[in-house]
Amino acid sequence: MTQREWRISELVNQLLTLGVKPGGVLVVHSSFRSVRPVEGGPAGMIAALRTAIGPEGTLVMPSWSGLDDEPFEPATTSATSDLGILADTFWRLEGVVRSDHPFAFAAAGPLAARITSDPLPLPPHCPPSPIGRIHELDGQVILLGVGHDSNTTLHLAELMSKVPYGVPRHCTIVENGSRVRIAYLENDHCCQNFSLADVWLRRNGLQKEGQIGNAHARLVRSRDIVKIAMEQLAHDPLVFLHPAEVACEECDAARQSIGYGRS
Ligand SMILES: [Zn+2]
Repeated sequence: MTQREWRISELVNQLLTLGVKPGGVLVVHSSFRSVRPVEGGPAGMIAALRTAIGPEGTLVMPSWSGLDDEPFEPATTSATSDLGILADTFWRLEGVVRSDHPFAFAAAGPLAARITSDPLPLPPHCPPSPIGRIHELDGQVILLGVGHDSNTTLHLAELMSKVPYGVPRHCTIVENGSRVRIAYLENDHCCQNFSLADVWLRRNGLQKEGQIGNAHARLVRSRDIVKIAMEQLAHDPLVFLHPAEVACEECDAARQSIGYGRS
């Protein structure tokens, strides 16, 4: 079966109908496979996003490498395939700026430098990081064909709530010409329970949902995500971890990390 190709103008209309704010800051987490086929492919989808926010808007995508043992080079290092083809297409486009560290985001528009210019953030999604700047700037988050398990803003909410877990991780940077391994603790786990945000946001009428191309899309204010997750984390700091009886390796590692490395 051949599916009809979505025209860029149709995608722009869908984005504006969903509630994408012209002139605003918009961070995109995406699975292009669920959106396509699109006129112009991944670059066509990016053009639709840029047209929807307009010249005063700033478009942002995650752009990290996912390579712990390799230094990050903003001009050449690919975005990890986990982030999808839109993310790995976006940073290569003319006029797009990218953070100079392994937890990079890429951005285009008037606020691009403000969002991408912080030094290495540790843990990766703390307030002085791209995702923290988007929260500060009252940006919107769009999930294109992916769920909240891809929503990095929830990691910011965990850090602002001072969750008690942090698993040992490392990254590699270059300092004075030599590779340096930097160890840190990250609020990481399998992220499946981030899907609870659907329930919390829908209950409060804070999440817009609709179709973009062939994908189901969610649109939320960064500040609403953080606020609602922090309320839940205040009741239960471990709400995002699978309970022990599920035997989820990653969530178990997070639970076992509680108290580790902190006194
Ligand atoms: Zn888990």
